[in-house]
Amino acid sequence: MTTEKTDWYPMWKELGLDIEKHDQLLAVLPDIFKKVFIDSQKNRPKGMGFFDFVVGDIHGIRVSELKKAKEEGKKIIGTFCLYIPDEIIFALDAIGVGLCGGTNFSNFASEDLLPINICALIKSALGFGIGNICPYYAITDILIGETTCDGKKKAWEVIGEFKPIYIVETPQCKTRPQAKAHFLEELKGLIKKLEEVTGNKLYAENLRISMEKIKKKREQLKRLYETRKADPVPISGKDALLVSQIAFYDDPERQIQMVGKLADELEERVNKHVGVMEKGSKRILVSGTPMAVPNWKIHDLVESKGAVIVAEETCTGTRYFDSEYEIKGNTIDELLEVIADRYLGINCACFTPNEGRKEDITKLVKDYNVDGVLLYTLNFCQPYDIEAIRLEKQLKEEGIPVLSISTDYSSEDEGSLETRIEAFLEMLN
Ligand code: SF4
Ligand code: SF4
Repeated sequence: MTTEKTDWYPMWKELGLDIEKHDQLLAVLPDIFKKVFIDSQKNRPKGMGFFDFVVGDIHGIRVSELKKAKEEGKKIIGTFCLYIPDEIIFALDAIGVGLCGGTNFSNFASEDLLPINICALIKSALGFGIGNICPYYAITDILIGETTCDGKKKAWEVIGEFKPIYIVETPQCKTRPQAKAHFLEELKGLIKKLEEVTGNKLYAENLRISMEKIKKKREQLKRLYETRKADPVPISGKDALLVSQIAFYDDPERQIQMVGKLADELEERVNKHVGVMEKGSKRILVSGTPMAVPNWKIHDLVESKGAVIVAEETCTGTRYFDSEYEIKGNTIDELLEVIADRYLGINCACFTPNEGRKEDITKLVKDYNVDGVLLYTLNFCQPYDIEAIRLEKQLKEEGIPVLSISTDYSSEDEGSLETRIEAFLEMLN
């Protein structure tokens, strides 16, 4: 990846972006990024330079790589959830891109198509696509949705009017044996669809190679997270979140290399007791809905108060790499079993029951020596909102301090959130 500045306008125009709106979006991002990541942090790991560069050029080089791959005949597949296995997409010689929605800037394009009381992530993701301001969305050949929450289920009908979309029916009660059988059938349906789209056939050998690659990518993120157990912590929560967010759309091989390099540096920091915050800083676990780029609001608020976020029990956190598999089997069916077990082992609030999430949080509190848990829910996200009430009660009963926050992407509530976070952190002393 070269670091020279390129004029991307011809590419954006070719992709049909609304240049005026897109300019407005890119005009605000650098200032926010500078404020959150550069001006307010000291002693950042050198390895973050790569990730800063990727965000600084967010709609540039990676999009041009995808465009080139597309011109060479590869298909680009847009996804919105962890339950759509990258392993299958890459095994078919296609490229998977996690489409994000972490800002309300894009809402202008979706507000007439969606009710007010729908979560910010759905509004934003749809707005990015429909408003022609996301080159990743524009370059995709097909979108893959899933039946996780009700909001998403219905959103696919809206977005389907603008772009081809295929829906994977994810089960609702994942612990039942028939749920796995059902998910396996759905994965086979996805393979059939992607074989049609790509014109390629899935072979067990390709699937196995792809599984090895995607597993390796997750393992590097896990290594990074492991270093956050140290005190002083070698990387801020903000930086770790940024690395996770980029993992959704960057090239997996490059991620293995660059996250691996960063993890090397962090391991060395841990050995030398080098941290980004003072030893003894209050350690916070964030748990809840995913935080898509550029949603850095909570991390910024918490860390500007001198505490540090040491882990995220979210899809842009531990859920991304948890429930890892050993690759066993020689046939597509055997390998799909391994894949299905891994994905059904992820504890998302969209399932009922979802007791595993409480166990995951309790384990993370112990492993990362957490002082307090911040339950984070996007307004109108029913699955996480409902779980937050029970979780708060259960965790408090175990003596774990909890702050439950419901918010969106606007800055309107930042003052009140700051006051609540400050009071929570003081209580931990
Ligand atoms: S929170 Fe659940 S539905 Fe949302 S991306 Fe994660 S796994 Fe998918
Ligand atoms: S945040 Fe909640 S409501 Fe929004 S897409 Fe995710 S699960 Fe659905």
